[in-house]
Amino acid sequence: MAERFEVPDGWVLQAYQYALDPTPAQSAALESHAGGARFAYNTMLRAVKANLGQREAEKSYGIANADLTPTLAWSFQSLRNDFNRRKHHVAVREDGTPWWPKNSKEAYANACRNLAEALKNWDESRKGKRKGRRVGFPSFKSKRSTRSFGFTTGTIKVEPDRHHVTLPRLGTLRVHESTRKLARRLEAGMARVLKATVRFERGRWLVSFTCVVERAAARPAHVKRLAPVVGVDLGVKDLIVAATPEGREVLRVQAPKELKRASRKLRALQRKAARQAGPWDAAANARREPSRGWLRTQQAIASQHVRVANLRRDRLHKLTTLLAQSFDVIGTETLAVRNMMAAGGARKKGLNRSIADAGLGEFSRQLDYKTSWYSSTRVQADRWYPSSKTCSGCGSVKAKLSLSERLYVCDNTDCGMVIDRDLNAAINLARLARAEQSARFDSGGADRKTTAPAAQVAVKPESSNGSASPQGEAA
Ligand SMILES: [Zn+2]
Repeated sequence: MAERFEVPDGWVLQAYQYALDPTPAQSAALESHAGGARFAYNTMLRAVKANLGQREAEKSYGIANADLTPTLAWSFQSLRNDFNRRKHHVAVREDGTPWWPKNSKEAYANACRNLAEALKNWDESRKGKRKGRRVGFPSFKSKRSTRSFGFTTGTIKVEPDRHHVTLPRLGTLRVHESTRKLARRLEAGMARVLKATVRFERGRWLVSFTCVVERAAARPAHVKRLAPVVGVDLGVKDLIVAATPEGREVLRVQAPKELKRASRKLRALQRKAARQAGPWDAAANARREPSRGWLRTQQAIASQHVRVANLRRDRLHKLTTLLAQSFDVIGTETLAVRNMMAAGGARKKGLNRSIADAGLGEFSRQLDYKTSWYSSTRVQADRWYPSSKTCSGCGSVKAKLSLSERLYVCDNTDCGMVIDRDLNAAINLARLARAEQSARFDSGGADRKTTAPAAQVAVKPESSNGSASPQGEAA
């Protein structure tokens, strides 16, 4: 396709979505555009179908291939031109006056583009040129289909006041939330809008801008660089604790209150549902018609689930961005295989739910790609490395440390250190990361497996006697 846009090196495609607050007149115009787009899509689909049917019929009469009715071209341009010829006859009211001019021609064009894409996918799929699931022949859009339409050219603007967007024909619409992030990037020339899609979903109109965005290779100017090397522990009590190899705590992020509140409410609803008459009667050991109260509670549970998931996702993104931007080298545990799921233990006993439930794998994945965006490095400890059980003061390793122990108390009587358990783990991870970094540096950048014997991290963090750190000044 000629109009397919190649994303330049160092740029990525990104979508920004906002809920709209249209006036009643604008709502009607949005409705009309969606209807117009559906009309164009269905009109051209009907034409393509009729053409295919005609050719099938002719073939069955034994008409030579060369004499068949010519195929109706499926490219976006032909569909669009074809629709523009037809619209004067089909997009008219009973009295013959045309209605098509009231919508932006872009809405029709974009519907033709979507149809061309759907036909191409179907065609390639049936010819075996397309991977994945089989794509069926496009179907007509009914009034109950998702109402949507799009613009690729024309006046598409994110207004400087951060609270309005301008779209062709629809004019300037109010957006529900601030467009600050996108507006800033557009103003700085670091983003370009390729397409605006408008759709009606769950009771409101949304606009989504598909953009090419330049990825910042350096951290944004407003983000302070907190330390060169840190270890990050996903805490039992707090979300994360970050510390330097020297034992300084540089960051401690607590689970947001609203998330705690939302999770608590979700659990309360689940308990409520358990008291109500659900679809299973345990006493009679039989199915039954659930009560209306139970059904109502289920609805509330579903929407509360969505809310909690959104809060978690938002939290996780902010956290991984902060880490990737604030430090050069970040040491973490091997998160995906953290022993937390073993015997269902850690999760139940309270490993911070906010991160556990949002998925350690997701935390790990985000940290990986964000460190590559901001040219920081992530070092993962060997999965058996006992970051929590190791004393950051003397290096001795405890046999057992239960999750309820919030303080690390060293068993070594010569040491006797008492320290916040998450901070202790973070310090160990920071030292591990530093050791790994210098090992990589020494071996000329070749990757080496991360292992660090406990003895290597035998540095007392809170001592101030100057001679404490054998490698403290090395980095
Ligand atoms: Zn110790």
